[in-house]
Amino acid sequence: MAENKSIPKVLAIDDSELIHRLLEARLQGENLELHSATSSEEGLKKAKLLQPEVVLLDIGLEGMNGFELLTKLKEDNETQNIAVIFISATVEPMDRVRGLDMGAIDFITKPFDALELKARVRSALRTQYLVKMLEQRAQLDGLTGLWNRRYFDQRLEQEISEAKRHKRVLTLALCDVDRFKRLNDQFGHPFGDMVLEKVAQILSGGRTSDIVCRYGGEEFGLIFSSTNIERGREVTERLRVAIEEAAWPGNPDLVVTASFGVCDTECLDGDLTPEAMLKAADTALYKAKQNGRNCVKAAARVLKKKQDTI
Ligand code: GH3
Ligand code: MG
Ligand code: MG
Repeated sequence: MAENKSIPKVLAIDDSELIHRLLEARLQGENLELHSATSSEEGLKKAKLLQPEVVLLDIGLEGMNGFELLTKLKEDNETQNIAVIFISATVEPMDRVRGLDMGAIDFITKPFDALELKARVRSALRTQYLVKMLEQRAQLDGLTGLWNRRYFDQRLEQEISEAKRHKRVLTLALCDVDRFKRLNDQFGHPFGDMVLEKVAQILSGGRTSDIVCRYGGEEFGLIFSSTNIERGREVTERLRVAIEEAAWPGNPDLVVTASFGVCDTECLDGDLTPEAMLKAADTALYKAKQNGRNCVKAAARVLKKKQDTI
């Protein structure tokens, strides 16, 4: 998965235009995108919308002051991880303690020393980069680098509610490597690991919008958004062939295969839930295994309910 290489955003919230001009001048040449808000309401809105890495927040804002705004940012899931640096003309020690206890990460006093300002912003951006990297790592599978099941479950729920809201179709596929236990027994666990890595690589070779995860052991989950089951079937069929045709170092005659079960949002007649979709895909996968493995089975559309699978 690609690391996020976009330019970091810094949002300055201060009711003085002069301060914004000063910040712009002092932060010029830094690798960041500076945004500004001149009231706490505008600041809160922009923080949600832009998702900046860092907020430079004036303590003495009119209306909702900096402390109150910080509380709002920390209460909201979408903004609670933004690093907040307070800016203020005079910062009493007790204000610093209160601000830090409330979750601010630093203070800058006006008038700004250009070098100090840049160093503090850089330091906050570094911390944010590390936090984001750790958050991302916690969602990745250690062996294959794919998304892990935790992320997949969250994402499936999200994608299903988006599909419902926009009346879009969504395909879910489950893939299970065939006779993997035997492969492990015959060639050893490290070879088995290498096979999983390669299968993961093949499965993630599709569109960048596809969400591919290691669902557990030798099982993988794939979400194809805005994709119906016919198209989902074609895509998984191509993946199945690619796995079957893969060459294995040291074992030129070895053929590894995998079975797939697919379903889309139209296959469910009851509630459209992640559990129901997973169950439908898993039932289709079971059929693929029963059918002799190395094949793709699709769950039936609700209208074609007489047959179980097509
Ligand atoms: P089927 O065709 O029915 O799917 O048979 P199978 O042998 O693939 O299925 P089974 O569930 O019996 O075996 C899965 C094996 O996958 C058992 C387990 O030891 C192995 N496995 C699970 N995780 C890993 C892993 O991270 N690395 C390796 N090398 N093996 C793993
Ligand atoms: Mg399995
Ligand atoms: Mg298996």
